Amino acid sequence: MTANTYLVGDAEEPLLVDSGTPHENHKLLRYLGNKKPIALLLTHHHLDHVGGARMLWERFRLPIYAHPLDIPYICGEKRRPPFPPIPWLGDYIANSPRPVPKEALIPVEEGALVLGWQVVHLPGHTPGQIGLLRDRTFIAADALRVGPRGPWVPPAMVNHNTQEARRTVGKIAHLEADTILVGHGPPTTIEAVRALAARLGL
Ligand SMILES: [Zn+2]
Ligand SMILES: [Zn+2]
Repeated sequence: MTANTYLVGDAEEPLLVDSGTPHENHKLLRYLGNKKPIALLLTHHHLDHVGGARMLWERFRLPIYAHPLDIPYICGEKRRPPFPPIPWLGDYIANSPRPVPKEALIPVEEGALVLGWQVVHLPGHTPGQIGLLRDRTFIAADALRVGPRGPWVPPAMVNHNTQEARRTVGKIAHLEADTILVGHGPPTTIEAVRALAARLGL
């Protein structure tokens, strides 16, 4: 998948975190196999995380959790900012996911519990990005990218507000976690995130 998706919780009725691009619906269904997700959580409104949401809702009528600041983009009330670096196609690409009906969307904010996972607001990359914390494992979505040299802040051109995105790295560094899972790249550790936060002066 273009962006990592995670199946967490109960093996038979797991919580699905993110859903790939609109072109990866078949891949997503193969990945799910005979598992029926009990719910979907969208970490943020970007097309590489939301692309399977409408299809999953049509198939399973499952509840879909997202932050109230990103819900207007997910349900089609607001247009997503153009996806760079192709300005003339960017608006079309960014808004290619089919809107999710508003009745499917359940707003969740900082501190809420979703099937035992604690919601953490991670603004910056988008206004309403959220992560999930449980048993010292934290799903950080696109608040961090992990490459060969460890975690870093996503580039400014893909962020709603990069200053805020940097402050969010400082917030993650203070979480009681060991393993950090991200939207793009392999897992990393809280020590690596704390080192990044120190380099950023956070
Ligand atoms: Zn992404
Ligand atoms: Zn993103």
